[in-house]
Amino acid sequence: MKRADRKFMEDGIRTLHTFNSTPELKGNTRYIFTDADMQARDYLKSLIKEAGLELYEDGIGNIFAVLRGEDSKLPPVWTGSHFDTVINGGMYDGVVGSLGAIEALKVIKDSGERHLRDIAAVLFTSEESGRFGIGCLGSHFITGEEGFVSIEDTKRIKDDSGVTLYEAMTERGYGKDFEKIRKKKGDIFAFIELHIEQGPVLESMGIPIGIVTGITAPTYISVTIKGEQRHAGSTPMNARKDSMCAFAEIVLELESYAKSLGHPNFCATVGKVNVSPNASNVIAGEVRFTIDLRGIKSKPKDKMAEDIIRFFAYLKEKRGVKIEYHIDANDKPMFSNENLVELIEGVCEDKKLPYHKMNSGAYHDSLMMAKLCPMAMIFVPSKDGISHDPDEYTSMDEIMEGMDVLCESVLRIANRTEPLN
Ligand SMILES: [Zn+2]
Repeated sequence: MKRADRKFMEDGIRTLHTFNSTPELKGNTRYIFTDADMQARDYLKSLIKEAGLELYEDGIGNIFAVLRGEDSKLPPVWTGSHFDTVINGGMYDGVVGSLGAIEALKVIKDSGERHLRDIAAVLFTSEESGRFGIGCLGSHFITGEEGFVSIEDTKRIKDDSGVTLYEAMTERGYGKDFEKIRKKKGDIFAFIELHIEQGPVLESMGIPIGIVTGITAPTYISVTIKGEQRHAGSTPMNARKDSMCAFAEIVLELESYAKSLGHPNFCATVGKVNVSPNASNVIAGEVRFTIDLRGIKSKPKDKMAEDIIRFFAYLKEKRGVKIEYHIDANDKPMFSNENLVELIEGVCEDKKLPYHKMNSGAYHDSLMMAKLCPMAMIFVPSKDGISHDPDEYTSMDEIMEGMDVLCESVLRIANRTEPLN
């Protein structure tokens, strides 16, 4: 088989970087259904057409390229990633696996490789949660979980300025044939995603390829603490119901709890906070914030959530504040298919590429896809472990090694007749 085209990948990464809502910043911002996102879509679709692949989009804007195999009745192999970014993000997150998917199909086609199954490149709509606050939007609708099924569901999902997903979507001509988006178990033979690691592990080990064995999943909790808004000078320390102090205790409790688990794939983060009235001489009356818990196993992650909620009760008693909370999401960690992992290991060995089996601390569309079909991911190194930042970087040599593994793995899966179970 031919090698992937380095120039195609390089040009693609550079060109996608020009579709940017924040050109004044160093990084890239591409939120779903903005002008930048639409330009990226047009560009990716033009690449698919130029490659002579079948092209279609579903109702939520997931883009598909298809290379027919010898038996289109067999469930197809899917490979792909996303092409949106976080605010002021990098050039590689999602983009490598999206361009890589198109290029993998091209390489297999142009090399004249025989394959049994159809192979589809899927470029997912909005994996990042930037605009509508929901990650993996496109793949959520493909798996069709509760709340992500019908066009009605798009009417309750709003961005910060109150625009619904329905409005944003229909304005751009999407929303048609919505019932066709959803796939069921058995429709897809396997899904495989090439992605940058977004962490420091591979670089620190000097290993070019990561094979993902599990993906951690998040639990999101939004919390409001209500205390008493009082004068900062005339309210004695023992007469306060200070919501900021209660907040501080929760943040530190979360930190020590997650640290005590002593595992790199269990994390707790408070990254967003609103303080009211937010004045230097007023005791905060209300603090609203988010909790982001991640874990590679459901039980300890659920226990972390339960224990922190129990801690709220203790604080209410101790500080006389009110604490309200809402669990916004509680996703389950997912594991890669062992047969797929073995197959990718075999590819790395044949290509004499050292690899490391690892968990993914970040979630991906693969987390959703694993609910539908056997899944595996290939990681390439991230310089200094940096991601979701303008300094995100993976060298072209590293990307090309990832492509070598992706192309060969996809071809082998497309010719596999035994079930992956
Ligand atoms: Zn990503």
